[in-house]
Amino acid sequence: MPGLDRRGMILGLGAAAVALTTVAGAIGIPSYDDPDDMYAALRAQPALSLAERGGTIRLVFADGAPLLDRERVTAWVRRAATAVTAYFDRFPVRDYGLLVIAQRGDRVGHATTFGYAGSATRIHVGTDATEQAFAEDWVLIHEMAHTALPDLPRRALWLQEGNATYVEPIARALARQIPASEVWRQAVLGMPKGEPGPADAGMDGTHAWGRLYWGGATFWLLAEIAVDQASKGTRSLRDALRRINRESGGNIVDWTAEQMMAVGDAAIGQNILSGLYARFAETRIATDLPELFDRLGIRLDASGGLRFDDMAPLADLRRRITAA
Ligand SMILES: [Zn+2]
Repeated sequence: MPGLDRRGMILGLGAAAVALTTVAGAIGIPSYDDPDDMYAALRAQPALSLAERGGTIRLVFADGAPLLDRERVTAWVRRAATAVTAYFDRFPVRDYGLLVIAQRGDRVGHATTFGYAGSATRIHVGTDATEQAFAEDWVLIHEMAHTALPDLPRRALWLQEGNATYVEPIARALARQIPASEVWRQAVLGMPKGEPGPADAGMDGTHAWGRLYWGGATFWLLAEIAVDQASKGTRSLRDALRRINRESGGNIVDWTAEQMMAVGDAAIGQNILSGLYARFAETRIATDLPELFDRLGIRLDASGGLRFDDMAPLADLRRRITAA
């Protein structure tokens, strides 16, 4: 698991997050491991300014990144921004800094998002990354999704990682970058990794990777269902998350988890998220995932393919989750 940082950073997880920390240095540029160095580079180095609905992205190629294909990288950044904008109905922060650090390799690497001195992400990109690697990348969208919610105390990291894990594929589906079936394929394969073991307690304070990312994502799917049922389909989790984004201004502020859930509940008009959060935070909750996916009308067949049952009780909600 990547290291935690005293300044309250949000963890990003690249394809090979653990192993890449010193690779950037190998091609002779600073690693920017210290986020203060990232902020300094975002302020001082030449930037491309990308206008996105509701915000501006300041894109800096660290030390010029001469080996990176700038056009390809810029198109990838715009595509990621389009996805999060589709989910939040605007780019989630007014000003966003993105430091792209070249490294050896052919994939998008580790990324981390910060908010304490402005909303910003540093991300490593392989100089041999192909068009396909960029097209398939989810890491940058995950990081941009982090900017939408206020920063929370460390014990609630699972809410943040779970939210970015849950929102990222849905955002891509809303922007028609992946099919809806891919959202559910990832959920079916990923969410079992987040289930509590016999010795696990509530989610607050967990450091286990599967619990943080996929256990957190399961929480947000359950929140989605709870909002839909309580509002009889008139409100969605998206409404709540958009309200939280608008009222907080994104990850540049520090809120408590309780405050965030109360603002989400106000958008729905009922106390749904606060109660669900309290239960997950404090007590061990196991979810019957096969039963949950069955109600959503998602079946994994013997060959590993997905079949969708449109007559299942939550099939209509399943379709609305990925519909603009
Ligand atoms: Zn993350």
